[in-house]
Amino acid sequence: MTISQAAGNVCTVSTLNTKKHQTTNSVESEVIYLPNTDCAIKPQASLSAFTSYRVGGAADLYVAPRNLEALQASLKYAKERDLKVTTLGAGSNLLVSDRGISGLVIATRHLRFSNFDPDKGQLTVAAGESIPSLVWAAAELGWQGLEWAVGIPGTAGGAVVMNAGAHNSCIADMLVSAQVLSPDGTLETLTPNQLGYSYRTSLLQGGDRIVTQATLQLAPGADPAKVVAITKQHKKHRLSTQPYNFPSCGSVFRNPKPYSAGWLIEQTGLKGYQIGGAQVALLHANFIVNRGGAKASDIFCLIRHIQHQVQERWAINLEPEVKMLGEFQSACG
Ligand SMILES: Cc1cc2nc3c(=O)[nH]c(=O)nc-3n(C[C@H](O)[C@H](O)[C@H](O)COP(=O)(O)OP(=O)(O)OC[C@H]3O[C@@H](n4cnc5c(N)ncnc54)[C@H](O)[C@@H]3O)c2cc1C
Repeated sequence: MTISQAAGNVCTVSTLNTKKHQTTNSVESEVIYLPNTDCAIKPQASLSAFTSYRVGGAADLYVAPRNLEALQASLKYAKERDLKVTTLGAGSNLLVSDRGISGLVIATRHLRFSNFDPDKGQLTVAAGESIPSLVWAAAELGWQGLEWAVGIPGTAGGAVVMNAGAHNSCIADMLVSAQVLSPDGTLETLTPNQLGYSYRTSLLQGGDRIVTQATLQLAPGADPAKVVAITKQHKKHRLSTQPYNFPSCGSVFRNPKPYSAGWLIEQTGLKGYQIGGAQVALLHANFIVNRGGAKASDIFCLIRHIQHQVQERWAINLEPEVKMLGEFQSACG
């Protein structure tokens, strides 16, 4: 099954606009419709609405294909013009620079399709499907295996790339295969072994391949009420231990085993520490929240401050889990 069987043929660029714009790279200045699709590429599209932090500048060019053909056409467009391509899922693990992103940003969030195969107990989804929606859909069918992911506000594609995980489970544990698209338009189906998974990493990170689809192995046949109840418990636990009331990217730093990043930051006395609108969350020190009006540079400088302080106190280098896109200043005041 392919994504194109499930979706229409129109890209979503809600504010189509044919006015001239100045782009940072002077690549294009007005909405472009890709040939043989109704897919539109929008210049100077603000990305702040497309990241969970609600910060960040504009993409030189932005496109959100709804099907595989439009995605391939978008890649072809970029290749022909030698544009850098950046892929965006739900933007829930990203810090986008205030200066924006050069080249073409391809958002996969409108690639939608899901199929529960009861014979194999497998769930096949397009990259743009929302993880929480899949978790609830599986629970209501009595399919076990995804309950742990209820609090992860990303897409299936982002989860495959990040090896998203919680409660000692992660995507790599249940991934059967992922379909990826290379810049030259080639589609490949890869197994978890080929994706080089470990804690919150995969070989897809920092690469140029786009995840288009994933198949997960789940366990059908349980009582839906029980699976829903477990999912609700996970959600309740999340809401009581993590700050879902302010924009964030979830955990900012990877846990430097055997320590937890949150514990180290808390022990360093940084809970509540604030730069501009960015604050180390009071509820969980490995979260930086946007308390309102934060700039990406505030968050970036807070990340650097935390790293510096933890290094001084514990001689441990905290490695960001959040992906930083675009240019950031090297010095913070
Ligand atoms: C409140 C909150 C709680 C969170 N809790 C957790 C948690 O418990 N566990 C956890 O692991 N994470 C957690 N996260 C982080 C985040 O939700 C996950 O990392 C998620 O998997 C990111 O998915 P996304 O679609 O938002 O990806 P994005 O943030 O959009 O992108 C992440 C990376 O993947 C790349 N990417 C995205 N989609 C594709 C694609 N289709 N093809 C190729 N590359 C792609 C991007 O270029 C980027 O490098 C949390 C975030 C928030 C805001």
